[in-house]
Amino acid sequence: MRIFITRKIPQIGIDRLKQAGHEVIVSDVDRPLTRDELKQKVAGVDAILSQLVDKMNGEIMDAAGKQLKIIANYAVGFDNINLKNAHDRNIAITNTPDILTEAVADHAFALMLAAGRRIVESDRFSRAGKYTGWQPFLLLGQDLLGKTLGVVGLGRIGSALAYRAAQGFKMKILYYDPIIKSSPFDTEVGAKPVSLEELLKNSDFVSIHVPLLPETKHLISTPQFEMMKKTAVLVNTSRGPVVDEQALLKALQNRDIFAAGIDVWEFEPKLTPGLAEIENIVITPHIASATVETRDNMSKLAAENIIAALKGNAPPNLIKQ
Ligand code: NAD
Repeated sequence: MRIFITRKIPQIGIDRLKQAGHEVIVSDVDRPLTRDELKQKVAGVDAILSQLVDKMNGEIMDAAGKQLKIIANYAVGFDNINLKNAHDRNIAITNTPDILTEAVADHAFALMLAAGRRIVESDRFSRAGKYTGWQPFLLLGQDLLGKTLGVVGLGRIGSALAYRAAQGFKMKILYYDPIIKSSPFDTEVGAKPVSLEELLKNSDFVSIHVPLLPETKHLISTPQFEMMKKTAVLVNTSRGPVVDEQALLKALQNRDIFAAGIDVWEFEPKLTPGLAEIENIVITPHIASATVETRDNMSKLAAENIIAALKGNAPPNLIKQ
C-alpha cells in the first residue's frame, strides 16, 4: 500500500514501512507543506504520517480519498487533527505516547533550572564581556531543592517531571488535574491534588502538561499570573496557546513572576513581540522531544501504527474518537 510522510523523519521508521512491503513517499521539501501541496501529495494514499504542524481536517482527508485508512501523527499531542472529521470517514488516528515522556520531562526540568538559575541570561552576560569579577549580588536566582512544584496535568509527562523533582530535588509536589483525582504519587512522593488556584498560589515552580483543548486554551492568563508568587517560575512544554503569551509578557515585564521557560509558543513559529527582548525568559523552539533516541523511537512507533492499521489490526496507539 502507499504511505505519504509529510516531512523527512528518522530513517528507521521509513525502513520498517518498506520492509513491511509498502511503497513509501517522503516529502522532498524540508519545510511544512502548503495546503495545496499537501492535498496534491496525499491523493490516493492509504496512510499519512503527519507532523504536528500539518492541519489534518476533512479537506485533506477527502483529498486523499476513500482508501485512506490511517493518519499516524509524529507527536503525542494531536490537536492538529480533526477527530470528528476522521471518525466520520472511518480513518484511524494514532499518536506516539510514552516513548517521548522522559525526554520531555528532562527538558521541562532543564527549563526549570535554566529559568530559575538564570543560566541563559548569565551566558549572554558572560559572552558580552560584562563580567568584571565575583560579586555578592550578581545574577541571583531561585533554589529548587525542597521547594514546591505545581504540576498542571498529571499525565505521563507531568508524572515523570514530578518524580524527578521529588526524588532528585526533594521538592514537594502539588498537582491539578480534573481527571486524575488521586495517584500512586500521593503516597509514593507525598504529592497532593489541589485546585488550580491553590496550586498557583503555593508553588515556587509551575509546569504545564495538559493537552491543548478548547478548555485549556489560555488556562494561564493574567488572573492566574496574579495568583502566583512573585518568585515563581513558570514552565510550559505542552502547547503554546495554553498560556496567554501577551499576559505572560506583561507578568514578566512587571515582575509579577520571577521567570519563565517556554518550549512551545502561542503563535509558532512567531514569537509574541517583546518576549525576545526581556531577560527573564528562556525560550526553546519546540524541541522538548528532540533527542536522537526519542526521535528514532517516534519514527518506529508511528511506522508500527501504520503497519498494524494497514494489516486491518487495531494500531497500538489508536486515539478514541
Ligand atoms: P497525557 O494525556 O498523559 O497527560 C495529560 C494530562 O492532562 C492528563 O492527565 C489529563 O487528565 C490532564 N488534563 C486534561 N485536561 C486538563 C485540564 N483542563 N487541566 C488540567 N489537566 C488536564 O499526555 P502527555 O503524554 O503527558 O503529554 C501532555 C502534552 O504535552 C501533550 O498533549 C502535548 O501537547 C505536549 N507535548 C509537548 C511536547 C513538546 O515537544 N514540547 C512533546 C510531547 C508532548
